[in-house]
Amino acid sequence: MDFDLSEEQRMFQRAIGDFAEKEVAPLVEQAEEEERFPVELFPKMGKLGYLGVRYPEVYGGAGADKISECIWAEELFRICRGIGTSLFAHSHLGTFPIFAFGTEEQKGRFLLPAIKGEKIAAFALTEPSAGSDVQAIESRAYKEGNRYLLRGSKMFVTNGTLADFVLVAAYTDRSRRFEGISLFIVEKGTEGFRISRKLRKEGSRSSETAELNFADCSIPEDNLVGGREGVFRDILKTLVEGRVTIAAGATGVARAAFEVARQYAKERVAFGRPIGQFQAIGFKLADMATLIEVARTMIYKVAWMIDEGRTCIAEASMAKLFATEMAERVTNEAMQVFGGYSQMREFPVGRYWRDARQLKIGEGTSEIQRRIICHQMGLKTD
Ligand SMILES: Cc1cc2nc3c(=O)[nH]c(=O)nc-3n(C[C@H](O)[C@H](O)[C@H](O)COP(=O)(O)OP(=O)(O)OC[C@H]3O[C@@H](n4cnc5c(N)ncnc54)[C@H](O)[C@@H]3O)c2cc1C
Repeated sequence: MDFDLSEEQRMFQRAIGDFAEKEVAPLVEQAEEEERFPVELFPKMGKLGYLGVRYPEVYGGAGADKISECIWAEELFRICRGIGTSLFAHSHLGTFPIFAFGTEEQKGRFLLPAIKGEKIAAFALTEPSAGSDVQAIESRAYKEGNRYLLRGSKMFVTNGTLADFVLVAAYTDRSRRFEGISLFIVEKGTEGFRISRKLRKEGSRSSETAELNFADCSIPEDNLVGGREGVFRDILKTLVEGRVTIAAGATGVARAAFEVARQYAKERVAFGRPIGQFQAIGFKLADMATLIEVARTMIYKVAWMIDEGRTCIAEASMAKLFATEMAERVTNEAMQVFGGYSQMREFPVGRYWRDARQLKIGEGTSEIQRRIICHQMGLKTD
């Protein structure tokens, strides 16, 4: 067993860490304030191969492994969870299905320009009345000749306001339940495709989230992902692997909160000494550092399983569950270390805390992760 990152992974960690510090950090304040994603990052990151870390070089990706993608998420989310979320929705949710089971023609038309940062991607599964209960989605697509008519609404779509194309999940055969769900590439400008509204959020404000509507959109059959109906099992692979990346992002948010709290504990003086010298505060920081370390170790293990081609449905859920709940706890403790200053917007700790809260909800809530783990243990919980 070898717990060291390889030389290549370490170099990548330094490079993406530097990029995040130098190119992303200066954009954060304005992006959060204006609730606007800084779109100039797409071409900039595309040129450096940072939008397709795991995709093979033939598609313009960096051809790196899942562990590197986790490093990518931790470094970016450490600087800004909102910006990291939009980049994740683009680089994973909105493109991985095309990479994993799209046709070569779809890869050429959508994956390549997305990896270059020339086209922005989004993924739309959730609906106003169906989130955790995926089977309850109401969107439908009806075949008419060599086209499909798509009808439905989608909720909480990250990059929904910006996307050049959206992967939309809809039933093509309701009678087959999960098995009847298909995925369509809906391009910006398609007649009937409308951004109903941009959503205002508590956390991840620099990530743009929208509700979308599809009113009898006519979609060419060439835009049916993989050229076949009933791909829910393939979509699940995207979701399982995405959970591990989000877990790594959660570790980044927790690390950011820990780092500012540790520094503050060294500088803030009360009763004549730095507050970090009070056991109550020092122990908090020790617990925070321990939790982050445990989460990262677990995430790397699950990422390694993915790189080895092993099944890791339960483990991916465990990593997502642990790391996101850990991030909530760590950011909460960081707020306590900052005392009254935690409430002041001049310090970033409040942002980390707000941003951590949603991590337990997106990509499957904590309850749903526990449910998956139970199912994988052979326990039918409901
Ligand atoms: C900022 C943000 C960005 C997002 N981006 C995207 C995106 O890009 N694309 C996309 O498709 N979706 C996206 N989502 C949607 C996200 O995946 C869903 O919010 C999430 O899956 C939960 O669904 P829901 O909000 O409908 O909650 P619900 O499913 O209504 O759940 C409400 C509560 O009930 C609990 N619950 C539900 N069922 C069970 C059960 N069987 N057992 C126990 N408890 C249960 C849940 O855990 C939760 O606590 C995003 C959400 C947010 C907030």
